Amino acid sequence: MNKKIHILLIEDDNNVSTYTSTTLENSGYKVTAAFTGKEGLSLTASLCPDIILLDLGLPDIDGCEVIEQIRSWRDNSNIPIIVISARDSEDEKVNALELGADDYITKPFGNAELIARIRTSLRHRHPHTQGTIYRAKELEIDFEKRYIRLAGEEIHLTQVEYQLLTLLAENSGRVLTYHYLIKTIWGPYADSNNQILRVNMANIRRKIEKNPAQPVYVFTEIGIGYRMLESESG
Ligand code: CA
Repeated sequence: MNKKIHILLIEDDNNVSTYTSTTLENSGYKVTAAFTGKEGLSLTASLCPDIILLDLGLPDIDGCEVIEQIRSWRDNSNIPIIVISARDSEDEKVNALELGADDYITKPFGNAELIARIRTSLRHRHPHTQGTIYRAKELEIDFEKRYIRLAGEEIHLTQVEYQLLTLLAENSGRVLTYHYLIKTIWGPYADSNNQILRVNMANIRRKIEKNPAQPVYVFTEIGIGYRMLESESG
């Protein structure tokens, strides 16, 4: 039998903690619960969990500080962190992502959504399991041969559109912030205004989406960034 994936759940709300632990254990994960930020940090160091689920509103230290600390330790800096938060504030989510969280999930969340996020985050930490092809519904991107096909027809993108779409596809299933996308594609001195990003995304959607107003491949997370439909290959 495979060694169980070990999840550290840092959450001060007893009900949420118990419910989430039970759900995850029923899905075959091993769960350790911490109820404060300090306890979470100490268990992260001693247990080296495979993944951390982190509530941002903790009684002792702020969840964002927990992310910063974990990311500053060399040995543990690679652990995927999924932020769970009742607070539906875009700024806070963006902040957590930019401090190094891998993803976020907003309370109340469904079990299927939680488990999908966990799988995505774990897979992205093991890139060798990622194929060189993105495939979902009718869209296929070959990162090596550098082509994009929709229902078998080749799609022609500009250089910038191609870079943007492949960056999202390589991280499919994960949200990438506007800031991260602009910095990665246009460099650190780019105008932080989102206009250039929105224009390119509109062009991409016109080329790959049947109805650009209701995209099925690249979703907008309002105030945060874009998330591409999870690849079915690899
Ligand atoms: Ca809390």
